[in-house]
Amino acid sequence: MSFTLAIVGRPNVGKSTLFNRLVGKRLALVDDQPGVTRDLREGEARLGDLRFTVIDTAGLEEATDDSLQGRMRRLTERAVDMADVCLFMIDARAGVTPSDEVFANILRKRSAHVILAANKAEGAAADAGVFEAYGLGLGEPIRLSAEHGEGLNELYAALMPLADEFAKRAEAQAPETEVDVSEESDGEDTVPMPTKARPMQIAVVGRPNAGKSTLINKILGEDRLLTGPEAGITRDAISLTLDWDGLPVRIFDTAGMRKKAKVQDKLEKLSVSDGLRAVKFAEVVIVLLDAAIPFEQQDLRIADLAEREGRAVVVAINKWDVEPEKQQKLRDLKEAFERLLPQLKGAPLVTVSAKTGRGLDRLRDAVLRAYEVWNRRVSTAQLNRWLTGMLEQHPPPAPQGKRIKLRYMTQVKTRPPGFVVMCSHPEKLPDSYSRYLVNGLREDFDMPGTPIRLTMRSQS
Ligand code: GDP
Ligand code: GDP
Repeated sequence: MSFTLAIVGRPNVGKSTLFNRLVGKRLALVDDQPGVTRDLREGEARLGDLRFTVIDTAGLEEATDDSLQGRMRRLTERAVDMADVCLFMIDARAGVTPSDEVFANILRKRSAHVILAANKAEGAAADAGVFEAYGLGLGEPIRLSAEHGEGLNELYAALMPLADEFAKRAEAQAPETEVDVSEESDGEDTVPMPTKARPMQIAVVGRPNAGKSTLINKILGEDRLLTGPEAGITRDAISLTLDWDGLPVRIFDTAGMRKKAKVQDKLEKLSVSDGLRAVKFAEVVIVLLDAAIPFEQQDLRIADLAEREGRAVVVAINKWDVEPEKQQKLRDLKEAFERLLPQLKGAPLVTVSAKTGRGLDRLRDAVLRAYEVWNRRVSTAQLNRWLTGMLEQHPPPAPQGKRIKLRYMTQVKTRPPGFVVMCSHPEKLPDSYSRYLVNGLREDFDMPGTPIRLTMRSQS
Protein backbone atom coordinates (compact mmCIF):
# COMPACT_ATOMS: atom_id res chain seq x y z
CA MET A 1 0.00 0.00 0.00
CA SER A 2 1.43 3.30 -0.96
CA PHE A 3 1.12 6.85 0.24
CA THR A 4 2.13 10.34 -0.82
CA LEU A 5 4.72 12.53 0.85
CA ALA A 6 5.04 16.22 0.05
CA ILE A 7 8.33 18.00 0.74
CA VAL A 8 7.57 21.60 1.63
CA GLY A 9 9.55 24.54 2.88
CA ARG A 10 10.94 27.83 1.70
CA PRO A 11 13.33 27.95 -1.26
CA ASN A 12 16.91 26.77 -0.88
CA VAL A 13 16.50 24.65 2.22
CA GLY A 14 17.32 21.53 0.19
CA LYS A 15 13.97 20.12 -0.93
CA SER A 16 15.12 19.17 -4.42
CA THR A 17 18.26 17.61 -3.07
CA LEU A 18 16.21 15.31 -0.87
CA PHE A 19 13.71 14.67 -3.65
CA ASN A 20 16.50 13.59 -5.98
CA ARG A 21 17.98 11.36 -3.33
CA LEU A 22 14.67 9.61 -2.67
CA VAL A 23 13.65 9.31 -6.28
CA GLY A 24 16.99 8.70 -7.95
CA LYS A 25 16.21 8.27 -11.61
CA ARG A 26 12.68 7.04 -11.02
CA LEU A 27 11.01 10.24 -12.04
CA ALA A 28 7.64 8.86 -12.93
CA LEU A 29 5.55 11.81 -13.73
CA VAL A 30 6.37 15.12 -15.25
CA ASP A 31 3.14 16.95 -15.46
CA ASP A 32 3.33 19.56 -18.16
CA GLN A 33 -0.21 20.71 -17.97
CA PRO A 34 0.13 24.42 -18.57
CA GLY A 35 0.07 26.65 -15.55
CA VAL A 36 -1.25 24.78 -12.63
CA THR A 37 0.83 21.77 -11.76
CA ARG A 38 4.07 22.63 -13.48
CA ASP A 39 5.66 23.75 -10.26
CA LEU A 40 5.14 20.42 -8.58
CA ARG A 41 7.40 17.52 -9.37
CA GLU A 42 6.30 14.03 -8.60
CA GLY A 43 8.33 10.83 -8.42
CA GLU A 44 8.37 7.32 -7.06
CA ALA A 45 10.48 7.23 -3.92
CA ARG A 46 12.32 4.41 -2.22
CA LEU A 47 13.52 4.44 1.33
CA GLY A 48 14.51 1.09 2.81
CA ASP A 49 11.56 -1.15 2.06
CA LEU A 50 9.14 1.76 1.80
CA ARG A 51 7.74 2.76 -1.57
CA PHE A 52 5.80 5.97 -1.88
CA THR A 53 5.05 8.92 -4.10
CA VAL A 54 6.95 12.08 -3.33
CA ILE A 55 5.98 15.58 -4.37
CA ASP A 56 8.53 18.35 -4.50
CA THR A 57 7.43 21.97 -4.27
CA ALA A 58 10.78 23.40 -5.28
CA GLY A 59 11.19 25.59 -8.31
CA LEU A 60 10.41 28.91 -6.73
CA GLU A 61 12.73 31.81 -6.23
CA GLU A 62 13.07 33.29 -2.78
CA ALA A 63 9.87 35.23 -2.19
CA THR A 64 10.71 38.87 -2.36
CA ASP A 65 7.37 40.41 -3.13
CA ASP A 66 3.81 39.73 -2.08
CA SER A 67 2.70 38.02 -5.25
CA LEU A 68 5.46 35.49 -4.93
CA GLN A 69 4.62 34.90 -1.27
CA GLY A 70 1.07 34.26 -2.33
CA ARG A 71 2.19 31.87 -5.02
CA MET A 72 4.38 30.01 -2.60
CA ARG A 73 1.52 29.68 -0.19
CA ARG A 74 -0.91 28.42 -2.85
CA LEU A 75 1.59 25.93 -4.16
CA THR A 76 2.30 24.62 -0.70
CA GLU A 77 -1.37 24.34 0.13
CA ARG A 78 -1.97 22.37 -3.03
CA ALA A 79 0.89 20.00 -2.25
CA VAL A 80 -0.36 19.57 1.31
CA ASP A 81 -3.83 18.72 0.09
CA MET A 82 -2.46 16.14 -2.33
CA ALA A 83 -0.35 14.42 0.28
CA ASP A 84 -0.93 11.98 3.13
CA VAL A 85 2.04 13.32 5.01
CA CYS A 86 4.21 16.42 4.75
CA LEU A 87 7.90 16.69 5.31
CA PHE A 88 8.49 20.24 6.40
CA MET A 89 12.10 21.21 5.82
CA ILE A 90 14.07 24.04 7.34
CA ASP A 91 17.71 24.95 6.88
CA ALA A 92 19.43 24.19 10.19
CA ARG A 93 22.36 26.41 9.29
CA ALA A 94 20.12 29.41 8.74
CA GLY A 95 17.92 28.66 11.75
CA VAL A 96 14.19 29.32 11.83
CA THR A 97 13.24 32.30 9.65
CA PRO A 98 9.97 34.27 9.44
CA SER A 99 9.12 32.43 6.19
CA ASP A 100 9.52 29.13 8.03
CA GLU A 101 6.96 30.33 10.55
CA VAL A 102 4.51 31.04 7.74
CA PHE A 103 4.92 27.52 6.43
CA ALA A 104 4.61 26.02 9.88
CA ASN A 105 1.30 27.81 10.34
CA ILE A 106 -0.08 26.50 7.06
CA LEU A 107 0.96 22.97 7.96
CA ARG A 108 -0.40 23.05 11.47
CA LYS A 109 -3.81 24.00 10.12
CA ARG A 110 -3.89 21.92 7.03
CA SER A 111 -1.92 18.73 7.30
CA ALA A 112 -2.80 15.70 9.39
CA HIS A 113 0.77 14.42 9.54
CA VAL A 114 3.82 16.62 9.58
CA ILE A 115 7.39 15.43 9.89
CA LEU A 116 9.82 18.21 10.70
CA ALA A 117 13.29 17.99 9.18
CA ALA A 118 16.24 20.26 9.93
CA ASN A 119 18.38 19.93 6.83
CA LYS A 120 22.05 20.77 6.24
CA ALA A 121 22.55 19.34 9.71
CA GLU A 122 25.94 17.78 9.03
CA GLY A 123 28.42 19.22 11.51
CA ALA A 124 28.10 21.25 14.67
CA ALA A 125 27.26 24.50 12.86
CA ALA A 126 23.72 23.19 12.61
CA ASP A 127 23.12 22.48 16.30
CA ALA A 128 21.59 25.85 17.15
CA GLY A 129 19.22 25.63 14.20
CA VAL A 130 18.10 22.13 15.15
CA PHE A 131 17.24 23.32 18.66
CA GLU A 132 15.40 26.33 17.29
CA ALA A 133 13.28 23.97 15.23
CA TYR A 134 11.76 22.52 18.40
CA GLY A 135 10.16 25.93 18.88
CA LEU A 136 8.01 25.47 15.77
CA GLY A 137 5.73 23.23 17.77
CA LEU A 138 5.76 20.49 15.16
CA GLY A 139 7.47 17.89 17.28
CA GLU A 140 11.00 16.70 17.33
CA PRO A 141 13.01 17.63 14.24
CA ILE A 142 14.89 14.99 12.30
CA ARG A 143 18.52 15.94 11.70
CA LEU A 144 18.98 15.57 8.01
CA SER A 145 21.68 16.14 5.50
CA ALA A 146 20.04 15.66 2.14
CA GLU A 147 23.32 16.35 0.42
CA HIS A 148 25.30 13.74 2.36
CA GLY A 149 22.49 11.25 2.81
CA GLU A 150 22.50 11.48 6.59
CA GLY A 151 19.44 11.09 8.79
CA LEU A 152 17.62 8.89 6.30
CA ASN A 153 17.30 6.17 8.97
CA GLU A 154 15.43 8.60 11.14
CA LEU A 155 13.25 9.65 8.25
CA TYR A 156 12.50 5.98 7.67
CA ALA A 157 11.69 5.46 11.35
CA ALA A 158 9.30 8.41 11.25
CA LEU A 159 7.57 7.25 8.06
CA MET A 160 7.31 3.56 8.86
CA PRO A 161 4.56 3.78 11.49
CA LEU A 162 2.61 6.17 9.26
CA ALA A 163 2.98 3.81 6.32
CA ASP A 164 1.56 1.05 8.51
CA GLU A 165 -1.30 3.29 9.52
CA PHE A 166 -2.12 4.19 5.91
CA ALA A 167 -1.99 0.53 4.96
CA LYS A 168 -4.41 -0.32 7.77
CA ARG A 169 -6.71 2.48 6.75
CA ALA A 170 -6.72 1.26 3.16
CA GLU A 171 -7.41 -2.24 4.36
CA ALA A 172 -10.34 -1.09 6.50
CA GLN A 173 -11.80 0.83 3.56
CA ALA A 174 -11.32 -1.93 1.05
CA PRO A 175 -14.53 -3.45 -0.23
CA GLU A 176 -15.27 -6.91 1.08
CA THR A 177 -14.83 -8.45 -2.32
CA GLU A 178 -11.20 -7.49 -2.25
CA VAL A 179 -10.28 -10.55 -0.22
CA ASP A 180 -8.86 -12.53 -3.06
CA VAL A 181 -7.58 -16.02 -2.48
CA SER A 182 -6.36 -16.64 -5.98
CA GLU A 183 -3.26 -14.54 -5.39
CA GLU A 184 -2.17 -16.50 -2.42
CA SER A 185 0.53 -19.08 -2.63
CA ASP A 186 -0.97 -22.02 -0.87
CA GLY A 187 1.87 -23.62 0.97
CA GLU A 188 5.36 -22.54 1.86
CA ASP A 189 5.87 -19.71 4.28
CA THR A 190 8.15 -17.09 2.85
CA VAL A 191 9.50 -15.04 5.70
CA PRO A 192 11.66 -12.18 4.46
CA MET A 193 14.88 -12.65 6.40
CA PRO A 194 16.82 -9.62 7.58
CA THR A 195 19.76 -8.68 5.41
CA LYS A 196 22.65 -6.29 5.69
CA ALA A 197 20.74 -3.83 3.57
CA ARG A 198 17.58 -4.35 5.53
CA PRO A 199 18.50 -5.30 9.09
CA MET A 200 15.94 -6.38 11.66
CA GLN A 201 14.89 -3.37 13.71
CA ILE A 202 15.11 -3.96 17.42
CA ALA A 203 14.37 -1.72 20.38
CA VAL A 204 15.47 -2.46 23.92
CA VAL A 205 13.02 -0.84 26.34
CA GLY A 206 12.56 -0.93 30.09
CA ARG A 207 12.85 1.22 33.16
CA PRO A 208 16.03 3.15 33.92
CA ASN A 209 18.75 0.88 35.32
CA ALA A 210 17.21 -2.29 33.95
CA GLY A 211 20.48 -2.72 32.09
CA LYS A 212 19.66 -1.56 28.56
CA SER A 213 23.01 0.12 27.91
CA THR A 214 24.88 -2.81 29.37
CA LEU A 215 22.97 -5.20 27.13
CA ILE A 216 23.51 -3.19 23.97
CA ASN A 217 27.19 -2.75 24.76
CA LYS A 218 27.57 -6.45 25.41
CA ILE A 219 26.00 -7.32 22.09
CA LEU A 220 28.13 -4.66 20.42
CA GLY A 221 31.32 -5.58 22.22
CA GLU A 222 31.25 -9.18 21.21
CA ASP A 223 30.23 -8.62 17.67
CA ARG A 224 31.50 -6.86 14.67
CA LEU A 225 30.01 -3.51 13.87
CA LEU A 226 28.53 -3.50 10.40
CA THR A 227 28.30 0.20 9.75
CA GLY A 228 29.12 1.68 13.11
CA PRO A 229 27.23 4.59 14.55
CA GLU A 230 25.73 6.15 11.45
CA ALA A 231 27.77 9.09 10.28
CA GLY A 232 26.29 12.36 11.37
CA ILE A 233 24.20 10.98 14.17
CA THR A 234 27.16 9.82 16.20
CA ARG A 235 26.46 12.24 18.96
CA ASP A 236 22.84 11.23 19.12
CA ALA A 237 23.60 7.52 18.86
CA ILE A 238 20.02 6.82 18.01
CA SER A 239 20.49 3.59 16.16
CA LEU A 240 23.33 1.18 15.60
CA THR A 241 23.60 -1.38 12.87
CA LEU A 242 25.47 -4.51 13.79
CA ASP A 243 25.90 -8.17 13.22
CA TRP A 244 24.50 -10.21 16.09
CA ASP A 245 26.00 -13.63 15.51
CA GLY A 246 25.23 -13.51 11.83
CA LEU A 247 21.94 -11.70 12.28
CA PRO A 248 21.98 -8.18 10.82
CA VAL A 249 20.15 -5.96 13.30
CA ARG A 250 19.61 -2.30 13.87
CA ILE A 251 19.23 -1.49 17.53
CA PHE A 252 17.42 1.60 18.65
CA ASP A 253 19.31 2.91 21.62
CA THR A 254 16.94 4.65 24.02
CA ALA A 255 19.49 4.55 26.82
CA GLY A 256 21.89 6.66 24.81
CA MET A 257 19.14 9.09 24.07
CA ARG A 258 18.30 9.55 27.70
CA LYS A 259 21.88 10.10 28.69
CA LYS A 260 22.14 12.75 26.06
CA ALA A 261 18.91 14.31 27.27
CA LYS A 262 20.38 14.75 30.71
CA VAL A 263 23.17 16.82 29.26
CA GLN A 264 21.03 18.84 26.90
CA ASP A 265 17.96 19.96 28.71
CA LYS A 266 16.51 21.28 25.47
CA LEU A 267 16.16 17.66 24.48
CA GLU A 268 14.40 16.71 27.68
CA LYS A 269 11.24 15.70 25.92
CA LEU A 270 13.16 12.93 24.27
CA SER A 271 13.12 11.06 27.55
CA VAL A 272 9.34 11.32 27.74
CA SER A 273 8.70 10.00 24.29
CA ASP A 274 11.72 7.79 23.69
CA GLY A 275 9.92 4.59 24.67
CA LEU A 276 7.16 5.38 22.21
CA ARG A 277 9.61 6.28 19.47
CA ALA A 278 11.58 3.14 20.10
CA VAL A 279 8.47 0.98 19.83
CA LYS A 280 7.40 2.71 16.63
CA PHE A 281 10.83 2.18 15.16
CA ALA A 282 11.09 -1.48 16.07
CA GLU A 283 9.95 -4.70 14.50
CA VAL A 284 10.90 -6.67 17.60
CA VAL A 285 10.75 -5.04 21.03
CA ILE A 286 12.88 -6.48 23.81
CA VAL A 287 11.25 -5.58 27.12
CA LEU A 288 14.16 -5.73 29.55
CA LEU A 289 13.22 -6.26 33.20
CA ASP A 290 15.36 -6.17 36.31
CA ALA A 291 14.85 -9.54 38.00
CA ALA A 292 14.82 -7.80 41.38
CA ILE A 293 12.00 -5.42 40.42
CA PRO A 294 10.12 -6.96 37.51
CA PHE A 295 6.83 -5.81 35.96
CA GLU A 296 6.75 -2.28 37.28
CA GLN A 297 3.99 -0.01 35.95
CA GLN A 298 6.38 1.49 33.43
CA ASP A 299 7.33 -1.96 32.13
CA LEU A 300 3.70 -2.98 31.80
CA ARG A 301 2.81 0.21 29.97
CA ILE A 302 5.57 -0.14 27.40
CA ALA A 303 4.85 -3.85 26.86
CA ASP A 304 1.19 -3.07 26.33
CA LEU A 305 2.12 -0.27 23.94
CA ALA A 306 4.29 -2.65 21.94
CA GLU A 307 1.36 -5.05 21.63
CA ARG A 308 -1.06 -2.33 20.59
CA GLU A 309 1.40 -1.07 18.01
CA GLY A 310 1.57 -4.58 16.64
CA ARG A 311 5.22 -5.30 17.36
CA ALA A 312 6.73 -8.69 18.15
CA VAL A 313 7.70 -8.81 21.83
CA VAL A 314 10.39 -10.71 23.72
CA VAL A 315 10.63 -10.35 27.48
CA ALA A 316 14.16 -10.56 28.91
CA ILE A 317 14.75 -10.86 32.64
CA ASN A 318 18.10 -9.28 33.38
CA LYS A 319 20.63 -9.51 36.24
CA TRP A 320 19.99 -13.24 36.51
CA ASP A 321 23.61 -13.62 37.68
CA VAL A 322 22.74 -12.15 41.08
CA GLU A 323 19.37 -13.87 41.48
CA PRO A 324 19.59 -16.22 44.49
CA GLU A 325 16.44 -18.35 44.02
CA LYS A 326 16.46 -18.96 40.29
CA GLN A 327 13.93 -21.81 40.03
CA GLN A 328 11.29 -20.31 42.28
CA LYS A 329 11.84 -16.88 40.79
CA LEU A 330 11.27 -18.13 37.27
CA ARG A 331 7.96 -19.74 38.27
CA ASP A 332 6.86 -16.52 39.94
CA LEU A 333 7.85 -14.47 36.91
CA LYS A 334 5.94 -16.69 34.51
CA GLU A 335 2.86 -16.50 36.69
CA ALA A 336 3.12 -12.70 37.01
CA PHE A 337 3.64 -12.35 33.27
CA GLU A 338 0.51 -14.31 32.38
CA ARG A 339 -1.56 -12.46 34.95
CA LEU A 340 -0.33 -8.93 34.20
CA LEU A 341 0.14 -9.16 30.44
CA PRO A 342 -2.48 -11.59 29.13
CA GLN A 343 -2.43 -9.74 25.81
CA LEU A 344 1.12 -11.04 25.26
CA LYS A 345 0.26 -14.63 26.02
CA GLY A 346 2.99 -16.99 24.94
CA ALA A 347 5.60 -14.32 24.33
CA PRO A 348 9.07 -15.70 25.03
CA LEU A 349 10.56 -15.05 28.44
CA VAL A 350 14.34 -15.31 28.54
CA THR A 351 16.63 -14.94 31.54
CA VAL A 352 19.88 -13.12 30.82
CA SER A 353 22.82 -11.40 32.36
CA ALA A 354 23.77 -8.39 30.32
CA LYS A 355 26.84 -8.08 32.51
CA THR A 356 28.28 -11.56 32.00
CA GLY A 357 26.73 -12.20 28.62
CA ARG A 358 24.99 -15.31 29.83
CA GLY A 359 21.76 -16.13 28.00
CA LEU A 360 22.35 -13.66 25.18
CA ASP A 361 22.49 -16.49 22.64
CA ARG A 362 19.04 -17.61 23.79
CA LEU A 363 17.84 -14.03 23.62
CA ARG A 364 19.06 -13.77 20.05
CA ASP A 365 17.27 -17.00 19.11
CA ALA A 366 14.06 -15.80 20.77
CA VAL A 367 14.26 -12.48 18.91
CA LEU A 368 14.76 -14.21 15.59
CA ARG A 369 11.90 -16.60 16.24
CA ALA A 370 9.56 -13.79 17.32
CA TYR A 371 10.43 -12.02 14.10
CA GLU A 372 9.66 -15.11 12.04
CA VAL A 373 6.32 -15.60 13.73
CA TRP A 374 5.51 -11.94 13.25
CA ASN A 375 6.07 -12.44 9.51
CA ARG A 376 4.24 -15.76 9.35
CA ARG A 377 1.67 -16.41 6.65
CA VAL A 378 -0.82 -19.25 6.94
CA SER A 379 -2.46 -20.54 3.78
CA THR A 380 -6.17 -20.02 3.27
CA ALA A 381 -6.75 -23.74 2.81
CA GLN A 382 -5.14 -24.53 6.15
CA LEU A 383 -7.04 -21.75 7.86
CA ASN A 384 -10.42 -22.89 6.64
CA ARG A 385 -9.78 -26.51 7.58
CA TRP A 386 -8.81 -25.23 10.99
CA LEU A 387 -11.85 -22.95 11.24
CA THR A 388 -14.21 -25.85 10.49
CA GLY A 389 -12.67 -27.81 13.36
CA MET A 390 -12.91 -24.85 15.75
CA LEU A 391 -16.57 -24.28 14.87
CA GLU A 392 -17.41 -27.93 15.48
CA GLN A 393 -15.58 -28.02 18.77
CA HIS A 394 -17.27 -24.93 20.07
CA PRO A 395 -20.10 -23.57 17.88
CA PRO A 396 -20.74 -19.83 17.92
CA PRO A 397 -23.79 -18.65 19.88
CA ALA A 398 -27.30 -18.48 18.39
CA PRO A 399 -28.97 -15.27 19.61
CA GLN A 400 -32.79 -15.50 19.20
CA GLY A 401 -32.38 -19.00 17.93
CA LYS A 402 -30.38 -17.94 14.88
CA ARG A 403 -26.86 -19.27 14.86
CA ILE A 404 -24.13 -16.81 13.88
CA LYS A 405 -22.33 -18.22 10.89
CA LEU A 406 -18.60 -17.93 10.33
CA ARG A 407 -18.17 -18.82 6.70
CA TYR A 408 -14.70 -18.23 5.54
CA MET A 409 -11.35 -17.05 6.76
CA THR A 410 -8.18 -15.67 5.24
CA GLN A 411 -4.98 -13.98 6.31
CA VAL A 412 -4.90 -10.45 4.94
CA LYS A 413 -1.57 -9.27 6.33
CA THR A 414 1.63 -10.06 8.19
CA ARG A 415 3.86 -8.04 10.52
CA PRO A 416 1.84 -8.76 12.67
CA PRO A 417 -0.45 -11.48 11.30
CA GLY A 418 -3.96 -10.21 10.55
CA PHE A 419 -6.96 -12.36 9.69
CA VAL A 420 -10.44 -11.67 8.40
CA VAL A 421 -13.41 -13.93 9.04
CA MET A 422 -16.62 -13.57 7.05
CA CYS A 423 -19.40 -13.57 9.57
CA SER A 424 -23.21 -13.38 9.28
CA HIS A 425 -23.68 -11.01 12.23
CA PRO A 426 -20.31 -9.72 13.45
CA GLU A 427 -21.94 -7.26 15.84
CA LYS A 428 -23.62 -10.10 17.73
CA LEU A 429 -20.54 -12.25 18.09
CA PRO A 430 -19.22 -11.99 21.65
CA ASP A 431 -15.61 -10.94 22.20
CA SER A 432 -15.02 -14.20 24.03
CA TYR A 433 -15.56 -16.03 20.75
CA SER A 434 -12.96 -13.91 18.98
CA ARG A 435 -10.57 -14.59 21.85
CA TYR A 436 -11.25 -18.30 21.49
CA LEU A 437 -10.24 -18.08 17.83
CA VAL A 438 -7.17 -15.91 18.49
CA ASN A 439 -5.93 -18.23 21.22
CA GLY A 440 -6.57 -21.19 18.96
CA LEU A 441 -4.64 -19.60 16.10
CA ARG A 442 -1.76 -18.88 18.43
CA GLU A 443 -1.59 -22.45 19.69
CA ASP A 444 -2.42 -24.43 16.60
CA PHE A 445 -0.22 -22.45 14.24
CA ASP A 446 2.48 -21.90 16.84
CA MET A 447 2.51 -18.12 16.90
CA PRO A 448 3.81 -17.06 20.30
CA GLY A 449 5.00 -13.55 21.01
CA THR A 450 3.21 -11.76 18.23
CA PRO A 451 0.04 -9.73 18.35
CA ILE A 452 -2.69 -11.36 16.25
CA ARG A 453 -5.35 -9.19 14.66
CA LEU A 454 -8.71 -10.77 13.91
CA THR A 455 -11.45 -8.85 12.13
CA MET A 456 -15.01 -10.05 11.62
CA ARG A 457 -16.46 -8.85 8.37
CA SER A 458 -20.15 -8.83 7.67
CA GLN A 459 -21.44 -11.28 5.09
CA SER A 460 -24.93 -12.70 5.36
P1 GDP B 1 15.24 23.78 -2.63
O1 GDP B 1 15.13 25.13 -3.23
O2 GDP B 1 14.60 23.74 -1.28
O3 GDP B 1 14.78 22.68 -3.50
O4 GDP B 1 16.81 23.56 -2.31
P2 GDP B 1 17.90 22.76 -3.17
O5 GDP B 1 17.71 21.29 -3.04
O6 GDP B 1 17.97 23.29 -4.53
O7 GDP B 1 19.19 23.11 -2.32
C1 GDP B 1 19.61 24.46 -2.13
C2 GDP B 1 21.11 24.50 -1.85
O8 GDP B 1 21.40 23.85 -0.60
C3 GDP B 1 21.93 23.75 -2.88
O9 GDP B 1 23.09 24.47 -3.12
C4 GDP B 1 22.25 22.42 -2.24
O10 GDP B 1 23.43 21.87 -2.72
C5 GDP B 1 22.36 22.81 -0.79
N1 GDP B 1 22.04 21.69 0.13
C6 GDP B 1 21.00 20.82 0.04
N2 GDP B 1 21.04 19.92 1.05
C7 GDP B 1 22.14 20.22 1.77
C8 GDP B 1 22.75 19.63 2.94
O11 GDP B 1 22.29 18.64 3.50
N3 GDP B 1 23.86 20.24 3.42
C9 GDP B 1 24.39 21.34 2.83
N4 GDP B 1 25.48 21.86 3.38
N5 GDP B 1 23.88 21.89 1.72
C10 GDP B 1 22.76 21.36 1.19
P1 GDP C 1 19.93 1.34 31.68
O1 GDP C 1 19.56 2.58 32.44
O2 GDP C 1 18.73 0.47 31.46
O3 GDP C 1 20.68 1.60 30.42
O4 GDP C 1 20.87 0.48 32.67
P2 GDP C 1 22.45 0.29 32.68
O5 GDP C 1 22.88 -0.55 31.55
O6 GDP C 1 23.07 1.62 32.83
O7 GDP C 1 22.63 -0.59 34.00
C1 GDP C 1 22.24 -0.14 35.30
C2 GDP C 1 23.06 -0.84 36.35
O8 GDP C 1 22.77 -2.24 36.37
C3 GDP C 1 24.56 -0.73 36.10
O9 GDP C 1 25.17 -0.52 37.35
C4 GDP C 1 24.92 -2.07 35.52
O10 GDP C 1 26.26 -2.43 35.78
C5 GDP C 1 23.96 -2.99 36.22
N1 GDP C 1 23.68 -4.20 35.42
C6 GDP C 1 23.26 -4.23 34.14
N2 GDP C 1 23.11 -5.50 33.74
C7 GDP C 1 23.44 -6.29 34.79
C8 GDP C 1 23.48 -7.72 34.98
O11 GDP C 1 23.17 -8.53 34.12
N3 GDP C 1 23.84 -8.15 36.22
C9 GDP C 1 24.19 -7.30 37.22
N4 GDP C 1 24.54 -7.82 38.37
N5 GDP C 1 24.16 -5.96 37.06
C10 GDP C 1 23.79 -5.46 35.87
